Amino acid sequence: MTLTLQDAKKHAEQLDRQDGLARYRNQFYIPENEQGPLVYFCGNSLGLQPKKTNEAMQLEMDKWQNDAVKGHFTGDFPWMTYHEFLQETGAELVGAKPSEVVYMNSLTANLHFLMVSFYRPEGQKRKILIEDHAFPSDHYAAASQVDWHGLDVDGDLLLLKPRKGEDTLRTDDILSTIDEHADQLALILLPGVQYYTGQVLDMKAITEKSQQHGITVGFDLAHATGNLEMALHDWGVDFAAWCSYKYLNSGPGAVAGAFVHEKHHDKDLPRLQGWWGHEKNTRFDMDNEFKPAPGADAWQLSNPPILSLAAVRASLEVFKEAGGMRPLAAKSKQLTGFLRQMLEDCCGDKVQILTPKDAQGCQLSLVIKADKPGKAVYQALTDAGIVVDWRAPDVIRVAPTPLYNSFHDAYRFVETLVAEL
Ligand SMILES: *Cc1c(COP(=O)(O)O)cnc(C)c1O
Repeated sequence: MTLTLQDAKKHAEQLDRQDGLARYRNQFYIPENEQGPLVYFCGNSLGLQPKKTNEAMQLEMDKWQNDAVKGHFTGDFPWMTYHEFLQETGAELVGAKPSEVVYMNSLTANLHFLMVSFYRPEGQKRKILIEDHAFPSDHYAAASQVDWHGLDVDGDLLLLKPRKGEDTLRTDDILSTIDEHADQLALILLPGVQYYTGQVLDMKAITEKSQQHGITVGFDLAHATGNLEMALHDWGVDFAAWCSYKYLNSGPGAVAGAFVHEKHHDKDLPRLQGWWGHEKNTRFDMDNEFKPAPGADAWQLSNPPILSLAAVRASLEVFKEAGGMRPLAAKSKQLTGFLRQMLEDCCGDKVQILTPKDAQGCQLSLVIKADKPGKAVYQALTDAGIVVDWRAPDVIRVAPTPLYNSFHDAYRFVETLVAEL
């Protein structure tokens, strides 16, 4: 059955009525213009502010005001162990054990700190496999790690490319590239979701393949965390890192997440050290004998920014209340599936969807094939109160998120797009 815009509107209203997660929309501030709320499909870039966040941050501001230095030990969330209050929910969200996850630093910083431990080039086994069009920061991080080890960036950064004429990577090609270069690869660093195309990579298969060859594998989950249901522990992923200002709604530049698999916890891995990675009961002995904290905590360097962590804590609570990633991913599948069907049925001849149907999360990446250039269409959407983004050279990224977007939002997007093409 093909949907007309008219059908789609009725269908959207019905889906919203049946949506068990619809009430979470009201837990967020939705930006508005004079006509009312905008259609906010940019949660893959900066997630919206949960209404809880202010309160969580104010709590720590008040404590600072009233308790000052004692605040490290007072209240429901003593600053001394503040990061631990994020650990359980933070771990559930990515399918990990609490000891495997820590919120610290920022994403690119975490990639570097983790590569210090997990990129250990030796002899012929010294290459890093990344994608050809990795997010620039990931490319710079990997390239500068290679360089840091005194190796050759051109030779030792292996770039994974889609086939000629194709936009996304085939899982079989990724796996055969790993087979082919197995004796030269020291590390595989790939995204869970590709930021430009929205393609979800088969992290389980990639991890399995890497393990067959004894190659370390890490994932950048910037576009995966809060978007997909994952099982990092069971898959056996070595390490991962993600930011929390995208689907995790923790505010601009929010503290990032890191995952280190349990199998690495008791190893004597090389690690850049700081006092917050020291075992907490003896941290203040100040004897300059580094004794690592158990688990991922050992990778911490500094005492963390509490105000920023408070925003992450508040946001993780919303995910927990909503039942975690399973129900959210189920709604997401329905919501993005509905959006895709409307796009195919109502303007399929003028809009190409880069994101593979069988490997999509929230995000669809659209290339406009109409007479009007894509950038002009993007501008027109923006003027009409639709918040999406433009990524050079020619993609409009559209990311409805299950926590605060409605099926009606998806309808409004397509209705507006059809009118602008
Ligand atoms: C958003 C994003 C980043 C941003 O890095 P920061 O260190 O948080 O500034 C890096 N890599 C990927 C893949 C991203 O999507």
